[in-house]
Amino acid sequence: MGLFLQDEGPCGVHGIQRDIVRDRTWRCKLDKDLTYIDDLDIAKKRVLIRVDFNVPLDEKGNITDDTRIRSVLPTINYALDEGAKIILASHLGRPEGKRVPSLSLVPVAKRLSRLLEKEVKLAPDCIGPEVEKIVNEMKPGDIVLLENLRFHPEEEQNDDSFGEKLGRLADVYINDAFATAHRAHASNVAVTKYVDTVGAGFLMKKELTYFSRALENPVRPLVAIIGGKKISDKVGVLVSLCEKVDKLVIGGGMALTFFKALGYEIGTSFCEDQALDKANEVIKKARERKIKLFLPVDFVVADKFSPSAETKVVTYQEIPKDWMALDIGPATVTLFAEAIQNAKTIIWNGPMGVFEMDAFSRGTFAMVSNVANSYAMTIVGGGDTDVAVHRAGEYAKMSYISTGGGAFLDLLQGNDLPGIVALKKKAAKAASWEHKRIEDHA
Ligand code: AMP
Repeated sequence: MGLFLQDEGPCGVHGIQRDIVRDRTWRCKLDKDLTYIDDLDIAKKRVLIRVDFNVPLDEKGNITDDTRIRSVLPTINYALDEGAKIILASHLGRPEGKRVPSLSLVPVAKRLSRLLEKEVKLAPDCIGPEVEKIVNEMKPGDIVLLENLRFHPEEEQNDDSFGEKLGRLADVYINDAFATAHRAHASNVAVTKYVDTVGAGFLMKKELTYFSRALENPVRPLVAIIGGKKISDKVGVLVSLCEKVDKLVIGGGMALTFFKALGYEIGTSFCEDQALDKANEVIKKARERKIKLFLPVDFVVADKFSPSAETKVVTYQEIPKDWMALDIGPATVTLFAEAIQNAKTIIWNGPMGVFEMDAFSRGTFAMVSNVANSYAMTIVGGGDTDVAVHRAGEYAKMSYISTGGGAFLDLLQGNDLPGIVALKKKAAKAASWEHKRIEDHA
């Protein structure tokens, strides 16, 4: 059972119950100099909130998971309580700068309306005179959802004039889209130049707080579990983690690149030959820092990449030439369970195998169960790991599941997120203007 910081889930062994969404005293290094929505006067104001409603849809356009919509309800409800005029902006999918009807935010407006039990009006576009007219006619407590931002190519180009057109709609700008904060796009960077008052929402606060609890000042031992396919995507993360963690557990396809780098036969397993030196770099770094590095000791191997493949369990020294390793084996599950047994903080990103196929899902699901039942604060990165935790039905037992895959990895790597940097820059500018104003008056 994970350790929780907020009062919405069960309480962990340390008994901390802190509603971080409304806790105005809790600050971490990551959100230093950041203004939050509850620091601002938003009553009767037009408040443009950048949210991430990039939800999965089935082939009929039905939302299959509305977690991303639910995650920003605290911010929307707060703005409603304060009597703001709420304008929501989001992208959905990859329309690549064109109007794609199947990627309209119509289903999102309907779902949000049902969750809030309130009308949510969908604007026909996200910028332009018609949208400005709708926004100018809003009354306090009204909610308008702008149409998909990415119907305009200027959004992903971080185009200034597109940012200015979005900015025209608002008196206050709030960014609550953690999952897109690692992208420098117009709706989270350029727009901040054109709205005087900017800040972050409660989801952003929650993400940054959990993250900083895990990495800035963790309760140790701190264990990171990293899986997934490509080491090249995560090498920066692995090197950076070597500076912070006590133990680093590596599973998934990337473990095979490590074994190849160590000179073992890996058959036809997925491997990034161009990343062998990167794997060696991580091993060297782990040695230098004296952290404990755990690699699999056995694998489930298959004769082809297929759910109907013939499979067997072999040790890491015995992967046959024509077979591929698609999951960690039972001995590895036991080893990794022991590795996390005394952990007080666990960070996990990336599956242990090809969990999308039943035959190769056991390693990942066993790991989900071990992490979920640990006595640690457990933080799960978004993306595939989030899907695996949901599928295993262990969602409620994790302390926190991040809504951001790429943003989570960027933070793990120690990178600044452009969406957050833009808010801080604006706040610093506003503070220096205020300082100058006071000096001029003195
Ligand atoms: P990533 O996006 O790098 O986190 O990788 C996630 C993907 O890695 C999932 O779709 C898994 O199916 C895949 N994966 C995990 N383990 C393996 C493996 N041993 N061989 C090939 N693909 C894998």
